Amino acid sequence: MKFNFKGISFSTWLYFLGFSLSIMLLLGFLLVVLIKPYYRNDRIRTIDVISDTIEGLLLKSDVTEKDIESVGRTIIGNNVCAIIYNENGKSIYYPPDSLGQLCMLDKQVTVGEQTYIINQDPLKFIEIIKHESPLSAIVNSQYTGAEMLLYGKLIRTNLVNYYLILNTPLEPVESYIDFIMNQYFYIAVIVILIALVLAVFLARRISQPIVKMKNEANKLAQGDYGVEFKTDSFSEINDLASTLDDATNKLSKVNDLRKDLVANVSHDIKTPLTMIKAYAEMIKDISGENPVKRNEHLDVIIKETEYLDKLATDMSELSKLQSGVIELNRDNFDLKECINKVVLLLSQAIHEKNVNLVLDLDDCVVYADETKISQVIYNFLSNALKYSDDDSTIIIREHADEEKVKVEVIDHGNGISEEALPYIWDRYYKVDKNFNRSVNSTGLGLAIAKAILEVHKARYGVASVLNEGSTFWFELSKDYDEQD
Ligand code: ADP
Repeated sequence: MKFNFKGISFSTWLYFLGFSLSIMLLLGFLLVVLIKPYYRNDRIRTIDVISDTIEGLLLKSDVTEKDIESVGRTIIGNNVCAIIYNENGKSIYYPPDSLGQLCMLDKQVTVGEQTYIINQDPLKFIEIIKHESPLSAIVNSQYTGAEMLLYGKLIRTNLVNYYLILNTPLEPVESYIDFIMNQYFYIAVIVILIALVLAVFLARRISQPIVKMKNEANKLAQGDYGVEFKTDSFSEINDLASTLDDATNKLSKVNDLRKDLVANVSHDIKTPLTMIKAYAEMIKDISGENPVKRNEHLDVIIKETEYLDKLATDMSELSKLQSGVIELNRDNFDLKECINKVVLLLSQAIHEKNVNLVLDLDDCVVYADETKISQVIYNFLSNALKYSDDDSTIIIREHADEEKVKVEVIDHGNGISEEALPYIWDRYYKVDKNFNRSVNSTGLGLAIAKAILEVHKARYGVASVLNEGSTFWFELSKDYDEQD
């Protein structure tokens, strides 16, 4: 398998490695730079604490063995050596220490201009403590060359004075630094290992759903609309997956629609063309000399041509509406009058079917495109006529309230099944695919009505019960233009 250096896995590894390495380097740097000053401060603080403890004891009247033991332990435990002299230079307390050869109390030390060996000539050293207390001097160890702190303090009690002298190294010993560095090395290795394991885990969590989505997208590109992008990963990836699923659904619908469209258009155009051709040939070969037959055949040709004309007009109207190139020609108009004009246009069909048309109309002025709204009412009413039996009742109701007006076209015809209802507004959708072809049935009427109502931002809908009838409705807001 080819290794992908630009892939998420490798990049995540690299970033995690870089991140943990830089953290460890920073930590190492701080350790190396800060360990010495930190150690120095700690020593100075320790010396202060020991000095205060011993001073407290000397000022106490009832010092117990236990107190003295505890001070001795603190001194040993903190790498300090100590001695207490009285006024006469006699050592009254010289506990064992852990510094051993490093302790400067019995070595030659230089403080200021003078050189001392403290425990050989304590009085000489006590002299400077008398003048400067507490005394803090930095001297160098003859053995290690490391800096040592020499501390002296005069402690006055009610009866006598004492001189406390403490000594401790100010630099950590090499072994101590080595120990810390060893620990640091182990910690660094552990941190980097944990970072790498986390990187592998994270890279998998991120890359696996993306790889899956890529494979699904490849299938989609091959025209397979049954793909599913859904993943259970980070929310951003889940969002992307559901967007892609959504887009796939829509693509699939568009694809179905396209297939439907091609099938319907070719069928709808082919059928009238076949009829026209057949009837023209009949006139040529058979009925040419028979005026009655010839007129009958010519009527069929005219009817089919009208259908083709209506189909072409509807198709162009719908595509203009859907592409948004159409500009609405809004104006104030009387909706009641508009409905009456549509009824007049369809009066012949109403009459032929002997339909009982009930008009229940309010006076109401709306601000909309009158021609387009007439077309919607025309489509609703002509469908009501088409899909109702002779002698049935159709009601057109138009009721207005303060803000809006609702128009309903109610028929008691075929009705529409629940399964078909969501699709009737799609173009070329016909519930009954074998319904007799007629000039008025292009399958585009409701799609055009829907497009018109949507450009008007109007609410619309249908309620229908199979074999009982349907109510097609829309609502227009009454925001008419005051200036008109
Ligand atoms: P058509 O030209 O076929 O009437 P439409 O777009 O106007 O096309 O309507 C789409 C389909 O919706 C129709 O084929 C019919 O099946 C159904 N339909 C529309 N109006 C009604 C109605 N009032 N009653 C029953 N079915 C209807």
